[in-house]
Amino acid sequence: MGKVIAISNQKGGVGKTTTAINLAASLAVAEVPTLLIDLDPQANATSGSGIKKGSFKRGIYHSLVMQEPIGKAILGTELEFMKIVPSDRNLAGAEVELIDIEGREFFLKNVIGEERANFEYIILDCPPSLGLLNLNALAAADSVIVPIQCEYFALEGVTDLWDTLVRIRRGLNQSLAVEGFLLTMYDERTNLANQVVSDLRDFLGSQVFDTVIPRNIKLAEAPSHGKPIILYDIKSRGSESYMNLAKEVMENDKKSVG
Ligand code: ATP
Ligand code: MG
Repeated sequence: MGKVIAISNQKGGVGKTTTAINLAASLAVAEVPTLLIDLDPQANATSGSGIKKGSFKRGIYHSLVMQEPIGKAILGTELEFMKIVPSDRNLAGAEVELIDIEGREFFLKNVIGEERANFEYIILDCPPSLGLLNLNALAAADSVIVPIQCEYFALEGVTDLWDTLVRIRRGLNQSLAVEGFLLTMYDERTNLANQVVSDLRDFLGSQVFDTVIPRNIKLAEAPSHGKPIILYDIKSRGSESYMNLAKEVMENDKKSVG
């Protein structure tokens, strides 16, 4: 049974999509069958994985709103073991179209069910808000990775996040685990970034991944070429850091089984 991991943070621009694409790709190069689902109408994970706008008929919208089997929307990528369910602008309407339907938070959970047997990991790239799409992701997920940008207000955002996770556990998904908090866009040259990392480790302890994602220009360039970092520049520090993250995620699972 595949594990479903949501990459979520209400805050915008913290590295969710970069993490979703590159974690999925790093698992895939380890020959672990991985499905990336793009739940953001901005569709950045879709284009960043090399899928062009208008080149596909079905996306996650069709599964969520029109209840088509998710299998019909799965596309291949340049990596044999990485598949994707794309998103497009239609998805922006999904929040409104689903709003009055009973069980609206559980549509994704229901449609993913069929695919769990076909993948070891299903990675969900969430939009920056706590709307219905994000709630669907958190209701469907076994665990959540929360990317946090190493900046001054990081710690304040984390307390809001805790409240959100507590509410989700009470309401939608009792068994939602924290896979880990991931520090992103770390610039080792600044004292501020070092201070933020040490504060977050003090506050969140072992729930913070050992791997820290550096600020790395190659990570910002890769999506415009429609490639995960591993195919764009495998020797970059960005590539190395996401491979380390994939290792940590796989190790977490070995620990919890053994
Ligand atoms: P949104 O909330 O809009 O969905 P997001 O949380 O998904 O944003 P990303 O799109 O992954 O964030 O990243 C925001 C911007 O920062 C992008 O331009 C991305 O290329 C860049 N970026 C992300 N991570 C890094 C990094 N480690 N080094 C350099 N640039 C990065
Ligand atoms: Mg994003």
